[in-house]
Amino acid sequence: MSVPGNLFILSAPSGAGKSSLIKALLAQPSERAMQVSVSHTTRAPRPGEVNGEHYHFVSVDEFKALIEDNAFYEWAEVFGNYYGTSEAAIDAQLQQGIDVFLDIDWQGAQQVRLRHPQVTTIFISPPSKDELLKRLQSRGQDSDEVIGERMAQAKSECSHFEEFDYIVVNDDFETALADLTTIVNNQRLKRSQQAIKHQQMFQKLLAD
Ligand code: 5GP
Repeated sequence: MSVPGNLFILSAPSGAGKSSLIKALLAQPSERAMQVSVSHTTRAPRPGEVNGEHYHFVSVDEFKALIEDNAFYEWAEVFGNYYGTSEAAIDAQLQQGIDVFLDIDWQGAQQVRLRHPQVTTIFISPPSKDELLKRLQSRGQDSDEVIGERMAQAKSECSHFEEFDYIVVNDDFETALADLTTIVNNQRLKRSQQAIKHQQMFQKLLAD
């Protein structure tokens, strides 16, 4: 019997550094494969974003058809656009022993938690409002109006921090990455996982 993958949810306000942290986490050597689930969205691609890699970019009609087909684990409307997570794709990855990371907001986290209580949820927080504003402005992607909306949304996102299992404060990047790595390793070391991984070892240890 192979060890099934762990499901993680990473939530953060835009600009908290979540994408960079996930990228760095996945670039590290790991005994187990790790993948980020690719969500569906109806928002337009940003410069450099690739369809199927960053998101599956679909029309509103296509998205609504997928909702009708019950294809989503969870879905939500964020900033006037739809975002959703395909259930079948994630379950297949977990069965293959892959640790899967969902990059979703608190609404999605609530929905997934209801259906998969064993999910590990992580909130990535910016260290301060000033720092968050600085990061959003330095991305140079959004107008002042959009940045204002994202700051308001950040406050709303942060107000849900108590719903998460773990909190990582992204002040110093390397420290935040080390914290994230610790959380992932912590899940892999749980008795339920180790008992499967080391089944033969325990059989021998317990043999007469
Ligand atoms: P962005 O447009 O900046 O890529 O993402 C905007 C927000 O949508 C982020 O807070 C992100 O976490 C959230 N988001 C991205 N994909 C999903 C998804 O599949 N489901 C949910 N509920 N939120 C998502």
